[in-house]
Amino acid sequence: MNWINNVVRPKIRGLLTTRREPPDNFWHKCGGCGQMSDVKALEENAYVFPCCGHHERMASDPRLKLLFDDGAYTKVPVSTVPTDPLKFRDGQRYTDRLKAARAKTALDDAVVIAEGKLDGQNIVTAVQDFRFMGGSLGMAAGEAIVTGMLHAVAKKAPFILFAASGGARMQEGILSLMQMPRTTIAVQRLRDARLPYIVVLTDPTTGGVTASYAMLGDVHIAEPGALICFAGPRVIEQTIREQLPEGFQRAEYLLAHGMVDMVVHRHKMRETLSRLCRITMSGTAAGVSVYDGGKKKPAGYIKSMNGHAVDGKVVEKLARGSDILEPEPVEDGERFDAARIDAREKAKREADAKAKSRTFPPNNSRS
Ligand SMILES: [Zn+2]
Repeated sequence: MNWINNVVRPKIRGLLTTRREPPDNFWHKCGGCGQMSDVKALEENAYVFPCCGHHERMASDPRLKLLFDDGAYTKVPVSTVPTDPLKFRDGQRYTDRLKAARAKTALDDAVVIAEGKLDGQNIVTAVQDFRFMGGSLGMAAGEAIVTGMLHAVAKKAPFILFAASGGARMQEGILSLMQMPRTTIAVQRLRDARLPYIVVLTDPTTGGVTASYAMLGDVHIAEPGALICFAGPRVIEQTIREQLPEGFQRAEYLLAHGMVDMVVHRHKMRETLSRLCRITMSGTAAGVSVYDGGKKKPAGYIKSMNGHAVDGKVVEKLARGSDILEPEPVEDGERFDAARIDAREKAKREADAKAKSRTFPPNNSRS
């Protein structure tokens, strides 16, 4: 009877009822704990999973809408660059890959430059879209970053970068690597103009991008759980043959080890960026009284980044009113130390040798 109940009945029921599956893109699986969330709820929550706070990767458009006042921004045009100068082909033509990526994302290339208001302050921003060929840095992306930075200089506005990249675009060979020094020089232009350059490192920021402009900011903010590295954990593990500590190269680990300044929840990102812009632009947008360069500098005023003097108390208040995560203390065992790795390897080798000699003893005494 059990057999009828357990096997035959469900089969008949299956034949009689047509199961309605939800559309493919209706549910998203959380990368942190595996629970499902529906897309609508996720969108409303800025792509942060409500179950465990896992930060999902974000496309450029919702990212920009989240940043600017009332979600309003204008794109800054970027001049075109030569397409596929190397006539590169790896199983598929590079031009075909570009076409597919453009159709998928409705973007010209991986980096979008936009300007608008953040809490009433003019800012220029660059967003790398990971959906476009892994946010890779090619000629077009390099051109966009340079254009964005020079635009910020022309507008005397802070520059905010949202980095997300798998590294350099290998289909462009040396031309993609040349974007590293190019963008670095553009960062120097921002510095010369004494304008703040704030970097938000999102999941994942790797390769040539971490080796150039993404690590040259005045302030480095990371999103929780973001992978930020040059070579990824798997490559390192295979090279040093050592199991890496948990959370290695993740935002929190890098905060604890001094590689990033803050780890900020996405819901607090706008507020944090706004405050940083206000502090570094000497509070002019926030209505802070600015010392006008007259003869007598008022007491308690400090010189800010762009050479103005501002009330130190106000800056301190702006800086302290934050919800950034405190860095966790670093355990000694977590530190990387070549000597320690060598010692551990040696101990392992010796233990192996010992175990071997025990298993196969050269036992001649009884024969
Ligand atoms: Zn979750």
